[in-house]
Amino acid sequence: MNHTQVLIIGAGPVGMTLACELARRHVSYRIIERSPVASQGSRAKALQPRSLEILNDLGIAEELLAVGTTELPFRKYAGNQFLGETPRTGFPRNDTRFPKTLLLPQPAVERALRAKLEALGGRIEWATELVDFKQIEKGIICKLENPNWSEELNATYMVACDGGKSTTRKKLGIQFVGETHQEETMWVGDVEVEGLTPDAWYNWLSPVYGIAMALFPFKNSNQWQLQAVMPAEKDGIVPTPSLEGFNRIFKERTQMEGVTFTNSTWQSIYRVNVRRAETYRVGNAFIAGDAGHVHSIAGGMGMNTGIQDAYNLGWKLATVINGEATDQLLNTYGEERIPIADWLLETTSQRQKVMMAGAASGKSGMETLGTTDTTQLNLNYRGSSLNAGSQTSTCLLAGDRAPDVQLNNGTWLSDQLRGTEWKLLVFNTEMPNTDRVKVIPAEEAVRVSYGVNSGVVLIRPDGHIAMIGKANQVNTYLNNL
Ligand SMILES: Cc1cc2nc3c(=O)[nH]c(=O)nc-3n(C[C@H](O)[C@H](O)[C@H](O)COP(=O)(O)OP(=O)(O)OC[C@H]3O[C@@H](n4cnc5c(N)ncnc54)[C@H](O)[C@@H]3O)c2cc1C
Repeated sequence: MNHTQVLIIGAGPVGMTLACELARRHVSYRIIERSPVASQGSRAKALQPRSLEILNDLGIAEELLAVGTTELPFRKYAGNQFLGETPRTGFPRNDTRFPKTLLLPQPAVERALRAKLEALGGRIEWATELVDFKQIEKGIICKLENPNWSEELNATYMVACDGGKSTTRKKLGIQFVGETHQEETMWVGDVEVEGLTPDAWYNWLSPVYGIAMALFPFKNSNQWQLQAVMPAEKDGIVPTPSLEGFNRIFKERTQMEGVTFTNSTWQSIYRVNVRRAETYRVGNAFIAGDAGHVHSIAGGMGMNTGIQDAYNLGWKLATVINGEATDQLLNTYGEERIPIADWLLETTSQRQKVMMAGAASGKSGMETLGTTDTTQLNLNYRGSSLNAGSQTSTCLLAGDRAPDVQLNNGTWLSDQLRGTEWKLLVFNTEMPNTDRVKVIPAEEAVRVSYGVNSGVVLIRPDGHIAMIGKANQVNTYLNNL
């Protein structure tokens, strides 16, 4: 029987982020994808600043910035009446090189991750499905099927990144606790648009539908993403979306002349589900991304949170597999990520309500969705059992994301924080005697930003602060993992 350390189920953005994290740490893994080809529907179009920082660590943020846009105003109408235009609000802060949400279609993010994975020597096994598995004492026997073969694989760990309908989660017996909002349904799709200039995110507000229609143009492309609230009919069934249907409701709802949709490459019904997996781990199996949490798309954080799940889990799996930590480290994945999912479900539900109320009253549309919280830069693991420290900062606690700082020479601290190692920022104290971390003397700008006068800040491989302490505590901390 073949053996791998980690079997990743699903090659969406979450599975691929995890594969990259394992590949660059030289952990043996396999990544399987049920579909024979990559999915083309635009789906997620917001890449949040925290995810951009993570993708920068993987070396693909710059190419994504070239594909997407950060500057698209909101243009609002009620029927054919122009209501006004709101610029996109940035959330200016100097602790990141990516202060703005990047707007681009999900397949562009997936393409960049796939290329990165290939550059790291990885390969997605397309048209290959996990059809069964059994946990044994030190691993999992997984049954894989492909149109041409089937295989029994012995995996030490398995990570289900197989989306909201995750069959793996169900087979693991993990409850997906929450609710389905049957009444909150939308048509979504990709279209080409004749008769509108692609220089704004168009929203048609309506007392009946809230968002009667929204059209988002992708940069350097003829493609637009269409969203329109579409309630169920009397029989309780939401009509099937189609190009003809998109054109029909646009005319009915906006009475605008001269606008036509053509060449629709994706149509789907989106229904709001607000659910979270009761646990992220059973034995040696983990779940990540939509398999662990689904919620309203208001605020654009589903894919982002999944990427951040994978970034949290990847280094932990590698550290345990490489014998540098006990299995206990893997329990901190759920410990740290489940509170984030709870926050996510709550904040996206609130945003959905505010947006729909604003749209129904004709006051505001999707411009209410982005706030400083949706940047996800403030998310922290302050409650984590991995936190330690004896020293203090005037502004940071263990568990916080390590802020980025622009240095005197114009480069960023994140240029030095990139890579898979632990990092140690040293503030006015003797250099520690350890080769287990990358030591970075903190210059004045870093001292000011971190609010630490003396001591060290130990930064985890996922860019969160593990400890604000003394140099002689570092080896003890790492030995206790
Ligand atoms: C209209 C719309 C707009 C959205 N907007 C945003 C946004 O702006 N920002 C944002 O962050 N998110 C947004 N989202 C959500 C985002 O698309 C998802 O959160 C994201 O795709 C989740 O990624 P994932 O890798 O967890 O799962 P998926 O992308 O669903 O990937 C799971 C993969 O697993 C495969 N799979 C399933 N079962 C098996 C099996 N047994 N064996 C092998 N493979 C299997 C599937 O084929 C699939 O490719 C939006 C979604 C929609 C529909």
